[in-house]
Amino acid sequence: MQTTVVPVHHTPLNVVKSFLLIGERVVIVDAGMRGGAVRIVNALQRSGRSPADVSLIVISHSHPDHAAETVPLKRLVRAPVAMNFAELKYVDGSERCPSTPTGLAGRLFLKTPLPHLQFESFRPDLNIDREFDLKLYGVEATIFPVGGHTPGSLAFYVPSTGELLAIDLIAGGIGIGGMLFNGRPIFPPFHEDKAQVFRSLGQLLKLPGLRKIHVCHGGPLRPEAVSRWLAKMDRSKAGRSGVAPGAGRERRTMA
Ligand SMILES: [Zn+2]
Repeated sequence: MQTTVVPVHHTPLNVVKSFLLIGERVVIVDAGMRGGAVRIVNALQRSGRSPADVSLIVISHSHPDHAAETVPLKRLVRAPVAMNFAELKYVDGSERCPSTPTGLAGRLFLKTPLPHLQFESFRPDLNIDREFDLKLYGVEATIFPVGGHTPGSLAFYVPSTGELLAIDLIAGGIGIGGMLFNGRPIFPPFHEDKAQVFRSLGQLLKLPGLRKIHVCHGGPLRPEAVSRWLAKMDRSKAGRSGVAPGAGRERRTMA
């Protein structure tokens, strides 16, 4: 059974969203923020599915707009929660997930309450720290630990339709993403390791059959647009700091 990607919007104007991966079962990607659990269950029902169909909740990374509703969502759908345990300390109440601005939009966004949203801490059930096949959970998709945006960031690929969920490796639109010009690639508000973001995007762009890139803020993006954006970043970075996004990619290809 083919897997379908269904976006679940948490705000107007395509600014923040989660995703459902719907196949024989349903995998939820990200719990969203305030009220997100109810919005996700409503979206499940609109898709003709119920909480009983959910086999797994995967939290792509621990920024509050992705992880804040994990506990309420788990209560509603009663499915295990998976994430990269590299970020365990950011969800168990020990530390806040870092938010290093990528530019002016990120610096301004840091002055709003959303990046500082407190949420109920939790202990995930399953560690995803390597490539992970979701077939066991009734969905034809693969999870890749990509890091970069945060240390344990995850991306998702549905090979049958060529859809990539790049989550916050990149965004589309204006400001922090969404609003207008959603197909225009931009940096999301925060990244911890831009060089790793560029390496991961370079690798993901090589996925066979890639046709569409979903992101949480704005989008979707066309792979050609992301390739061009990456090449532009490559040229400007190479000129300024010597951190060339393509450099790691090339080394890896040649190794
Ligand atoms: Zn994020």
